[in-house]
Amino acid sequence: MTTQPPDVTPSFGLRPAPSATRARDERPGVSGLAPGELEAWAKEHGLPGYRARQVLDAVWRGRQAGFGEVLTLPPPVREQLGEAFRFDTMAETEVRLTDGALTEKALHRLSDGLLVESVLMHYPARAGARERHTLCISSQAGCAVGCPFCATGELGMERDLETAEILDQIRAAQRRLAADDKHLTNVVFMGMGEPLMNLERVLEAIEALNDPVRFGLGARHITVSTSGVVPGIRRLTALGPQFTLAISIHAARNPLRDVLVPLNRRWPVEEVVAAAREHAQATGRRITYELTMIEGINDTDADADALAELLRGDLAHVNLIPMNQVAHTPWTGSPASVVERFAERVRAAGIAVTIRFNRGTEIGAACGQLAAEHLGQPTPAVVQRRRERIVAQSAAALRGERTSEPSPIGAGEGGRA
Ligand code: SAH
Ligand code: SF4
Repeated sequence: MTTQPPDVTPSFGLRPAPSATRARDERPGVSGLAPGELEAWAKEHGLPGYRARQVLDAVWRGRQAGFGEVLTLPPPVREQLGEAFRFDTMAETEVRLTDGALTEKALHRLSDGLLVESVLMHYPARAGARERHTLCISSQAGCAVGCPFCATGELGMERDLETAEILDQIRAAQRRLAADDKHLTNVVFMGMGEPLMNLERVLEAIEALNDPVRFGLGARHITVSTSGVVPGIRRLTALGPQFTLAISIHAARNPLRDVLVPLNRRWPVEEVVAAAREHAQATGRRITYELTMIEGINDTDADADALAELLRGDLAHVNLIPMNQVAHTPWTGSPASVVERFAERVRAAGIAVTIRFNRGTEIGAACGQLAAEHLGQPTPAVVQRRRERIVAQSAAALRGERTSEPSPIGAGEGGRA
């Protein structure tokens, strides 16, 4: 395998409007409604039950852009629907192609002006493997966790996405694919945001994805990635096998993980791995551990050995991804030889390891990278201050000192998950 040159993303025209300046459209997005809710709405409006089914068909199978185009419905019903619901919660979507059209990065503007991104990745058919079309979606606008290597983390938290706002990223991609007679085959929650901090809506969205009457995508084709919200992982375990769980581990040693994934100050790595282990045992599904590799920071032999020790004997699979460079850090992705050496040491402990050398098409790298670009670059002085802080924190962590900074998630908030 060889490392590809970094992906150059052409810039988008869409610019965010500060959330405070624009009122949010209060009408629920129609895709967020369960079939029973639509039936109840139809009944309340004196409409026959089959009208709800016609709406569902248009929302999930149709190519219409609004209720006005759903010709199976009488005009007054189209009007009533438009008054009650939004057909699409994405006020505007702009799509850019990269990697020779193998990656489609979409920037969505929400009704209050905030921007979120989704990334559609095409994998052509290969011997023994069918073609795949994987969509990476956002669950929040921004993210409160604040991992220093992540463009979304740098933005801070804006707000949770509504169920329909999660699902409409998928509908937008499916509409584009359907135009070429293709179908979305996989959905990964690896875009902006921490899905387990918006768990109710993420679960509602997954239910709609699984539902044969709505999107009809099998649980095996859905992956949820978390930075380690332990109560959320436990709730997922109680629900049974719904999808693949991916844990963003990044470091097996607490002092370093406190810096790379600040949520570690609330739920340390052993607790995260214990919850993931219970999940694997209860569901029989292998856990994916993602490790974004940063040169000289978390890619040493000691880090590989600590990871191997932590996961030894588990139903686990490790994914190594060299970090994609972001402006506000002085860090770069680990070179291929270092990544391969790290992989070998972890494999020696009997743990399955894959390496994803990114070129912008790969999930972690493709997602979370666009956001900062649209807010404009911070001033050089701000970048310098952030860099100095990250360097000081990681140097202390590498000496084994734990940070005294608080967790980004307040004491009560984790219970929300
Ligand atoms: N908040 C969740 C899901 C969204 S982030 C989580 O952290 O798991 C999805 C993945 O993208 C994470 O594994 C994250 O570590 C990775 N990622 C973020 N920034 C990256 C970067 N600059 N280079 C490579 N991977 C990155
Ligand atoms: Fe949030 Fe995930 Fe980015 Fe960390 S890596 S800041 S948890 S989106």
